[in-house]
Amino acid sequence: MEKKDIDWGNLGFGYMETSYSYVCNYKDGAWEEGGLTTDHSVTVSECAGILHYCQEVFEGLKAYTTEDGRIVCFRPDLNAARMADSAKRLVMPEFPQDKFVEAVKMVVEANKEWVPPFGSGATLYVRPYMFATGVVIGVKPATEYQFRILVTPVGPYFKGGKEAITITVADYDRAAPRGTGDIKAGLNYAMSLHPYEEAHKRGYSENLYLDSATRSYVEETGGANVLFVDKQSNLVVPQSHTNSILPSITRRSLVTVAKDILGMSVVERPVKFEEVTNGDFMECGLCGTAAVISPVGHIEAEGVDVTFVDGAENAGPVMSKLRRTLTDIQSGAIEGPEGWIVEIC
Ligand SMILES: *Cc1c(COP(=O)(O)O)cnc(C)c1O
Repeated sequence: MEKKDIDWGNLGFGYMETSYSYVCNYKDGAWEEGGLTTDHSVTVSECAGILHYCQEVFEGLKAYTTEDGRIVCFRPDLNAARMADSAKRLVMPEFPQDKFVEAVKMVVEANKEWVPPFGSGATLYVRPYMFATGVVIGVKPATEYQFRILVTPVGPYFKGGKEAITITVADYDRAAPRGTGDIKAGLNYAMSLHPYEEAHKRGYSENLYLDSATRSYVEETGGANVLFVDKQSNLVVPQSHTNSILPSITRRSLVTVAKDILGMSVVERPVKFEEVTNGDFMECGLCGTAAVISPVGHIEAEGVDVTFVDGAENAGPVMSKLRRTLTDIQSGAIEGPEGWIVEIC
């Protein structure tokens, strides 16, 4: 099997059309068989539900090559389950979870020339998504949907040099008006674009969102969960009173790695933003599929600038150790818990 002639080491995080996508339609109360397609465009009615009332949910995972040459992906069953939860919240049908995992395997295997080689730092980004294709004009859920998976090779998240990022506290609530903060849906991202632009204009990489009811607890950033390390080297994981933090698969995996593999103490609890501004934490990081952990160097709120000394330029010791252990599990260098690495071919 020949790999595509791509400069894998210099890929950015962009979209490139590959050989196949996966498509499956929902109609008359049931999902059809579904399968691969070479048609990378979507045609829908001008009155499709997605275009008016935004019934759309998505997932993101990566497929990559291990040191011994296998193509694998990481915990796709959790993406399947989370997408089912997101769909339920937007009154969309659940895409069967076994079928989801089979579809991921099918589309990755069909595109195996596009899976970056081991050691390149690049991965094949896998984007399952589902949207309302059925027509609606009165406000109600559509009756027809399409589930698709597109795959595209993406570059390494860190390319050397200073890696720490800066974040600022958003004046906005992420998705507070509709309370959809714990689902992975395009509508939450649409709501985050304006604050994201505002943060960028002021020189920050991301926004930190606080709880919408009291604006005193840390929730997460626009697209990543937040982790802290306190002065006793405990991993502190913010919890939400209102379940409005997206259940990141990377975060849940890092908690297991910290507890069961590194023997660290992990505290999952509501975290007051005041603790951050008081300087109670030694390290801060953002976690998600793409980067595993991005260290945070500074957090700003209303003129108060908190610097994480250990991580101001590069990841601090605890974040580095966590990131290395999880990436070693992902690459197959060390054995992880049963079922985490799913072999595709
Ligand atoms: C996808 C996402 C994350 C990260 O989740 P992973 O499963 O670790 O990739 C965190 N927050 C939000 C809002 C997200 O959409």
